[in-house]
Amino acid sequence: MPGLTHWQSPNFMAFFPASSSFPGMLGELYSAAFTAPAFNWLCSPAVTELETVVLDWLAQILGLPQCYLSQGEGGGVIQGSASEAIVTVMVAARERVFGNLSKELEGKEKEDKIDGLRGKLVALGSEHAHSSTQKGAIIAGTKYRSVAASKEQGFSMTGESLRRALEDCKRDGLTPYYLTVTLGTTSTCAVDRFDEIAEVLKDWPEVWVHVDAAYAGAALVCEEYQHLTKSFTAFDSFDMNMHKWLLTNFDASCLFVKRRSDLTSALSITPSYLRNTFSDSGLVTDYRDWQIPLGRRFRALKIWFVLRSYGIEGLKAHIRRHIKFGELFHQLVKSREDVLELVTGPNFALNVVTVVPRRKWMKGRERRVSASRPDPNHEAYLNDFTPDAENQALLDANEVTKEVYELINSRGEIFLTSGVVGGTYVIRVVTATPSVEEKNVRRAFEILVETAEEVLNKGAK
Ligand code: PLP
Repeated sequence: MPGLTHWQSPNFMAFFPASSSFPGMLGELYSAAFTAPAFNWLCSPAVTELETVVLDWLAQILGLPQCYLSQGEGGGVIQGSASEAIVTVMVAARERVFGNLSKELEGKEKEDKIDGLRGKLVALGSEHAHSSTQKGAIIAGTKYRSVAASKEQGFSMTGESLRRALEDCKRDGLTPYYLTVTLGTTSTCAVDRFDEIAEVLKDWPEVWVHVDAAYAGAALVCEEYQHLTKSFTAFDSFDMNMHKWLLTNFDASCLFVKRRSDLTSALSITPSYLRNTFSDSGLVTDYRDWQIPLGRRFRALKIWFVLRSYGIEGLKAHIRRHIKFGELFHQLVKSREDVLELVTGPNFALNVVTVVPRRKWMKGRERRVSASRPDPNHEAYLNDFTPDAENQALLDANEVTKEVYELINSRGEIFLTSGVVGGTYVIRVVTATPSVEEKNVRRAFEILVETAEEVLNKGAK
């Protein structure tokens, strides 16, 4: 179909997948047939009850700590997107700080105290956190600061860099109240150092920590990734998109909180027209108090269809298949290090690569182009690779990679995404669309190599 990007194509290796499945589609169809904007339990009890049930199942499938289940003080709620989940918990975090501050106060005195603090609140996220954290801070009306996460740290936020950022905030008279930690950053699928971060935050107990696992959280269905959740008891909320990598049609962003009362205290306002005996009894869940909008769709149905159709084993097989494709792509790149360089990966079926430029270097007045990477012991190379020359080489590499990326996407056989990490222009290859097969992975690699050679050979003439 012209004008439509085919996200379900096996040649779609851009962004992160928006996976779909027949069970997911059927769930959507039933939900469309029922159309019940069930904001309160009363509006359609099954919509609420099924959501609580499937999200408790999901929390267990993902290996989340018990505290995120509804049996205790926690629980899950389906949001439209990971960004929406972030704004929602950020507002809850802000209100929690105000609540703690003003327990003893009332009226004007309380308002003044809150106003004084409002301008000092700062939300934090790693420099590689998704932009939705910064956007969330804009919506929540607070400041935002990013925490360094360098290439040497594998683009992961460490405890030490967080401590430094927190201390800088304190020195500047700011009050950190919220932090996004990421399981699978958008550019490289890096995982922040949760253990170290939890340790540092023992000195900052008022900071709400949200785990953004929008894409890579799906991998937690496999035991081999579940060690990543062990620090989550120290955090406040967790969100992953079933609609990215877990076969559920867009949209199904699953948010879990450790204390549901943090959400309801911040977001519950009950005018007379929303009152009813069930809500007043306090025995039922009204999900409108866990989210920004009032109305909500019956999204639990498609998750139920997916979980019941695939089963846990089916979901694990789905994820592991893609992880293997990521490893295959990695091996292929390694076999052609003369043209491609791996920046990171394979992380959760994402490989991040650059094109290796045949370095242009000068010897006297003669301009030469080496056939491959220059011998680092070569006299001319050593003379030439002063810091300035290295910067120039990086710029050249960025230009070449960009040209290769643009050519590939303009030809339309495969679709990739680019990005800039640590000053390096990179191409991201995600092998996680449900329909992808080994032949597509191999073909994507061939296209990358052929196009890189085409651009490099043109540059060498
Ligand atoms: N967080 C991460 C790590 C992401 O990669 C993305 C999008 O790819 C988002 C958040 C935003 O997701 P959404 O479109 O569900 O708001």
